[in-house]
Amino acid sequence: MTLDRNLGFDRSQVKFQQLDYNSARFWRILTQWLFFGWCLFLGVQFGLFVRHFETMGRTGYFPRPPGIEGFLPIGALMSFKAWLLTGQVDPVHPAALVLFLTFLCMALLAKKSFCSFLCPVGTVSEGAWKIGRKLFGRNFRVWSGLDITLQLVKYAVLFFFIKLIIFTMPLTAIKDFLSAPYWAIADVKLLYFFVNMTRTSLLVIVFLLCMSLIYKNFWCRYLCPYGALLGLLSMLSPFKVKRNVQACTNCRACSRSCPSLIDVQRKVQVRSPECTGCLTCVNRCPEPGALAIAFWSRPVRPKLFVLWVLGLFTSGVLFGMVTGNWQTSLIYTDYQLLIPLAMNLAG
Ligand code: SF4
Ligand code: SF4
Repeated sequence: MTLDRNLGFDRSQVKFQQLDYNSARFWRILTQWLFFGWCLFLGVQFGLFVRHFETMGRTGYFPRPPGIEGFLPIGALMSFKAWLLTGQVDPVHPAALVLFLTFLCMALLAKKSFCSFLCPVGTVSEGAWKIGRKLFGRNFRVWSGLDITLQLVKYAVLFFFIKLIIFTMPLTAIKDFLSAPYWAIADVKLLYFFVNMTRTSLLVIVFLLCMSLIYKNFWCRYLCPYGALLGLLSMLSPFKVKRNVQACTNCRACSRSCPSLIDVQRKVQVRSPECTGCLTCVNRCPEPGALAIAFWSRPVRPKLFVLWVLGLFTSGVLFGMVTGNWQTSLIYTDYQLLIPLAMNLAG
């Protein structure tokens, strides 16, 4: 047995370890696209729900899917502050808080896995740079000085929201927001943003998509404040990619393959807030036992990591459901009143 060269796996286990990484990668990508499809399904269902009220009941009624509240992170941050200070969950969009807390827990306990397993924007970004790589033969890298400066943008946006909502807004202002009609139909407003997109919004999205073809995860790397928050929390995660310097042949396959552009080959442990736990580097490593996903420095089977990520997400949602913090307190007549007014309601 050569435990030292195999990060704790003996040689007879190494073949299974590689197979494990391949299938873990498969399950991660399958999860991404299934979740993406699920989000589209929720969007369509929510659109039909809204349509019913827009047409004064002339079209069929579809139940409102609470999962749509996962797309309200700024309101969820306000709801989070209110919950911290009062212990009460906002009854209007409880799923927004449940999902927000679930994603924070995932970051604390399983790295930035939300980004590499669930986030639909992350899925589109990953799909875009893979298409870009096929089109141009490779993905490009922003000049390193500019790259560091641009990465600060997402932290600046995060800092702005944290300072404004957590440190500046008084509780009374938060409560006013959470009880206002605007918050009640924030999900409807978001739907209108996508279905009635302005020319400027469309141009911005097309620009971001074009940049994502050229640069890996352009939005996530430079602009997403949610990813920035999850990344900072993920630094506390007990899971880390770990390199065994004795087994490593410095081939740089890990560094070349990392979608977050982390120079894995120069690390013993990857502590970067950019690491999403996507397992690409460990999957690409050709040396048995040189690279692994480790829990408190102890290598774990990658499939267990995948199960852990999915288990955390499912537990969070189930916890919200069984504690009665999932369905909105708004009733049919509230939506009858609010949805026809939605286009005119300002924040
Ligand atoms: S960085 Fe933001 S957009 Fe990208 S995957 Fe993470 S949460 Fe989604
Ligand atoms: S270091 Fe490995 S697990 Fe982390 S983002 Fe890069 S490829 Fe994915």
